[in-house]
Amino acid sequence: MINITLPDGSVREYENGITAYQIAQSISEGLARNVISALVDNTQVEITTPIYKDATVQLLTWNDEVGKKAFWHSSAHLLAQAIMSFFPNAKLTIGPAIEKGFYYDVDFGEETISDKDFEKIEAKIIENAKKKSEFKLYPVSKSEALELYKDNEFKTELISNLEDGSITFCTHDDFTDLCRGGHIPETSIVKAVKILNVAGAYWRGNEKNKQLTRVYAISFPKQKDLTEYLELLEEAKRRDHRKIGKELGIFTFSDKVGAGLPLWLPKGAALRKKLENFLSIAQKKAGYEFVISPHIGHKNLYITSGHYEKYGADSFQAIKTPHEGEEFLLKPMNCPHHCEIYKSQQWSYKDLPKRYAEFGTVYRYEQSGELHGLTRVRGFTQDDAHLFCTPDQLLNEFEKVIDLVLYVFGSLGFEDFITQVSLRDKENREKYIGSDENWEKAENAIITAAKNKNLKTVVEYGEAAFYGPKLDFMVKDALGRSWQLGTIQVDYNLPIRFELSYVGADNERHTPIMIHRAPFGSMERFIAILLEHTAGDFPLWLSPEQFIILPISEKYTDYAKKISSILEVHDINGVIDERNEKTGKKIRDAELNKIPYMLIVGEKEAESETISVRRRGEGDLGTMTLEEFVAHIQAEIKSNFKN
Ligand SMILES: [Zn+2]
Ligand SMILES: [Zn+2]
Repeated sequence: MINITLPDGSVREYENGITAYQIAQSISEGLARNVISALVDNTQVEITTPIYKDATVQLLTWNDEVGKKAFWHSSAHLLAQAIMSFFPNAKLTIGPAIEKGFYYDVDFGEETISDKDFEKIEAKIIENAKKKSEFKLYPVSKSEALELYKDNEFKTELISNLEDGSITFCTHDDFTDLCRGGHIPETSIVKAVKILNVAGAYWRGNEKNKQLTRVYAISFPKQKDLTEYLELLEEAKRRDHRKIGKELGIFTFSDKVGAGLPLWLPKGAALRKKLENFLSIAQKKAGYEFVISPHIGHKNLYITSGHYEKYGADSFQAIKTPHEGEEFLLKPMNCPHHCEIYKSQQWSYKDLPKRYAEFGTVYRYEQSGELHGLTRVRGFTQDDAHLFCTPDQLLNEFEKVIDLVLYVFGSLGFEDFITQVSLRDKENREKYIGSDENWEKAENAIITAAKNKNLKTVVEYGEAAFYGPKLDFMVKDALGRSWQLGTIQVDYNLPIRFELSYVGADNERHTPIMIHRAPFGSMERFIAILLEHTAGDFPLWLSPEQFIILPISEKYTDYAKKISSILEVHDINGVIDERNEKTGKKIRDAELNKIPYMLIVGEKEAESETISVRRRGEGDLGTMTLEEFVAHIQAEIKSNFKN
């Protein structure tokens, strides 16, 4: 008999060789019907794999993330099978599940796959799936495996790197693939499939290798789920920040300037300035001091910090000077600069914490295939800050940083988020820098702070960096998509590398603890997410153009100008539409440009010193005096902010 521990902590005794499916049956028939995969001691297995030792077992359904992975990975086998029936000379490589769906990288040789092929492949997948074939995983010797794939150099390479005795194949229906496992029990569970697109992908992600075709697809256990997903996809396309950013005149790129280097247009710059001001005020209130550091630094700075090792060879190369051997680097991180700022003075424990904030622009050479709008760029500005404190101050500082992040998210309409606490690997504590005592303190500080602030938290062991534990914020946007935003990271490493110190109450020198934090992550990425979250309908305070004045004829332009300048005095920003167009068209254009307030002025308004106010999404609000309008708009702005 063996002992099986279930996620609720209960332990059940079973016959040696029991399978996850049988365990599910012993619990309930309903569960047995829905279980599609299992984790045995945290390794994903088939539900038909016998278990021969005491183990923890987690039974997975479609509703579990890991269950979906098994579903999608198995669907990749179905995709490959269908592709091979239409392209018998194609060579298969790898086909993993991804966050949403799965792909298969295929060498189509002389042939090409196009949108026109998608429908027949989808139909074939469903036709094959209906056969209810089991996914059977079985061991194959290395020589056998190599023989079977002797015409496929990709699989041959994969097999060559595997150890004899560890190689398995998976067969369903008439199709076999090299695979290490993690499948659903049988094919008929896959009820709906959609091939989403195809893209070029280098074998093993290396530009020097052959270019393959990556076929992206997604599958579901119900047709309804697929329909909903496709609707969501349409909405996401409509909200794509690259599209909205262009339509609203937020940012652009120029090949001449260089890929991945965003150019902020006036409206984008205004938006970004508002965000920076907002954060600056919040940080000032929270006791931060602002610092400024240059865009480059001496190579030795980054050798000291360790960033040269991390970013050196794969990033922008050193800038040389007329001085022989002198080299500078574009800064990949602001931290080393802030360490030197800390070091410019000797501190006592009474001076701490020091909190240095900077909107610091950094540069990293992302591969061109990785670049994506504002979310993956080569030059970006972090809303960065570094805090230097004593171990005793860590908990309080952490809580204050969380408060700041929550205030920022709340004011921008991100209400739905979870946090991840990344801690040391329990088994393998030697690989972390810093004393056990300090780690213990930091880990407890993060957990306690998260608890005190009522954060929804998942704890991941082994996810901490070697230099310290961290807390990440994952926000859900209006479409339910998760984005990783702010990070709060404890660091024991840089203060040691930079020999930072403070004099303690004992009159001895101590090393401070450093906290890195960036609520937005970067301005670029954050604005991209904000564009997709709001579809360009920013909260009023953030709108780059809060109003547009629409004079009904050019006779009233002067009156419009007068109103505009008064509003600007009240820090309410906007423009005047002086075009010789009908008011109806001007209103439609203002709506398209997502300008919150439209102020219509004509003879009646000019005479009575009033304005006719329209609110986007609400319609006509009637006539107001300027004072009334200012009070109205200020009240709305106030309501945007969390206290
Ligand atoms: Zn597989
Ligand atoms: Zn940092």
